Amino acid sequence: MASEKREFQAEVSRLLEIVAHSLYSEKEIFLRELISNASDACDKLRYLSLTEPALIAGDAEFKVTIQPDKGQHLLTISDNGVGMSRDEMIGNLGTIARSGTAAFVSKLSGDEKKDVGLIGKFGVGFYSAFMVSKEVEVISKRTGEEIAHRWVSDGKGEFTIDETTRATRGTTITLHLNEAGEEFAEPLRIKEIVKKYSDHIALPVVLVEDGKEETLNAASALWMRSKSEITAEQYKEFYHHVAHAFDDPWLTLHNKAEGALEYATLLFVPGTKPYDLFQPERKNQVKLYVRRVFITDDAQELLPPYLRFLRGIVDSEDLPLNVSREMLQHNPVLARMRTQITKRVLTELTKKAKDDPEAFITFSENFGAVLKEGIYEDRENQSEILPLARFRSTAGDALTSLDEYVARMKPGQEAIYTIAGENLDALKRSPQLEGFRARGIEVLLLTDPVDEFWMPALGKYQEKEFKSVTRGSADLDKIAPEDKKDETPEAPASDVASLIAVLKLALGDAVKDVRSSKRLTDSAVCLVADDNDMDMHLERLLRQHKQLNADSKRILEINPKHSLIAGLVALAGKSGASDSLSDFAWILLDQARLLEGETLPNPNDFAKRLSSVLARGLSA
Ligand code: ADP
Repeated sequence: MASEKREFQAEVSRLLEIVAHSLYSEKEIFLRELISNASDACDKLRYLSLTEPALIAGDAEFKVTIQPDKGQHLLTISDNGVGMSRDEMIGNLGTIARSGTAAFVSKLSGDEKKDVGLIGKFGVGFYSAFMVSKEVEVISKRTGEEIAHRWVSDGKGEFTIDETTRATRGTTITLHLNEAGEEFAEPLRIKEIVKKYSDHIALPVVLVEDGKEETLNAASALWMRSKSEITAEQYKEFYHHVAHAFDDPWLTLHNKAEGALEYATLLFVPGTKPYDLFQPERKNQVKLYVRRVFITDDAQELLPPYLRFLRGIVDSEDLPLNVSREMLQHNPVLARMRTQITKRVLTELTKKAKDDPEAFITFSENFGAVLKEGIYEDRENQSEILPLARFRSTAGDALTSLDEYVARMKPGQEAIYTIAGENLDALKRSPQLEGFRARGIEVLLLTDPVDEFWMPALGKYQEKEFKSVTRGSADLDKIAPEDKKDETPEAPASDVASLIAVLKLALGDAVKDVRSSKRLTDSAVCLVADDNDMDMHLERLLRQHKQLNADSKRILEINPKHSLIAGLVALAGKSGASDSLSDFAWILLDQARLLEGETLPNPNDFAKRLSSVLARGLSA
């Protein structure tokens, strides 16, 4: 096939422009990226060879070779891994295949300074070679194929691809170094970079200099080394490699289990939140190894979904090497590892929450909502997970645990009060909170939708019932208001009852009930759900996600201490039901709906009624 010219996917071109012009100071990371890719390619082939040993017959020693040529300003990185076919080269080196790079592009602002910072945050994989090269040539032969292909590009919008020869399988990347890249043809510089970033790579990284070969790294799986031999820096670099991440790990868990089951784990809790944590396709990404051989990064049975923020590896001594991905599905060894690893992770999180509550806030903000899924998904560990759950609350800006909440409960308070919604500021202003605030009763502000699922399912914590302040009657009588000044007289109950009768008549089917409120102090009205109905926010949430069609009727609560209600009580006493009172009834209801953040079923009617009531007020 003749040489073919192709254009990069538009996103890649944009990316390359930034990469090429970037003043990103740590250009050396390109070498880490290329070594990392080479090592992944070897891992892939090693896995394939488990079932097809012929693939590596005669060439079973995987390695990455680096050969600089100072005089020609060249740097060559080769591997004897799985290689790429023509289509794979076009797909992998011309489009954005990988999620990290895709995230990078989606975050680009056009402001060069900011965008360059992102290179360090996401890493740009193979494309980082263009930071140091004026031209990049990739020659690759896919294992098992006869023909090799050459991919060449100067990183300016196009690449060419044609057929070529390569004696053995694998990939050779030749960088024609640019001015900024010249230093990377210097052997000492290469040694330094490999030591810094790639020491943990489990296969030899070999420097070829004057025909002599020198292995630059320890070339043993990092997780098999003893903890005392591993520096924090090495853990971090391994995390970057294994997770394709560029932040610092928040927590590193390195263990060897030696009992009925034998395995090593090197797991990380990332320091930042990945953008796809809540996407349904987001899965466990911890890699499974068997006796140092990479098996899969898609072993969903390895960890429960609520620990899907973890990155790293698990290396089992017990599973058979030729374990297929299908076999993993109901594997008792894997199931037992999962149980043990889950417990271990929860124990470590509990420890961290206790020893470093400050740092635990970062964790909660990043992953707390995911962890909470475990409260209903993993009954067995529920009592471990519950104390790790954190919440916003009316008590202050700090996140709080349930235990802390319970410790602060008022004498006479029997329930754990909650209110749910997306927006923290809007929640804090909810009228339903007024009566609680006046009595100094703390209310948890639930902004993680997951809370609305496990709380009703669980019902209680430490024998204290979870109770939404927007549902059922507010039994606040047992606790006296803190603010004794609130001696605002209430209209006599019988007069309020007459107004309520008039309002009910006017609103008919639009509400389930109208009643006098205990939870309001400042606002005139609010809506609440009936005791047996679904919480209002949950219902809105389910309707938004088309999980629910029904629309429960609400209870309108009125505040008999509010001057507007007092005025209406007087009006109802004078004239009974009237057009004007009917207008007021609807305005009160719509006002309560607006306070809930709902859209009005009929904004036109609302505007008309409001205008006519205001006009009457002006002419009076
Ligand atoms: P990532 O490595 O994060 O997936 P890259 O942009 O660095 O992203 O590489 C894109 C893809 O190109 C890789 O996923 C891999 O499929 C392929 N690739 C890159 N380098 C090699 C290599 N040395 N051998 C085989 N395939 C490679």
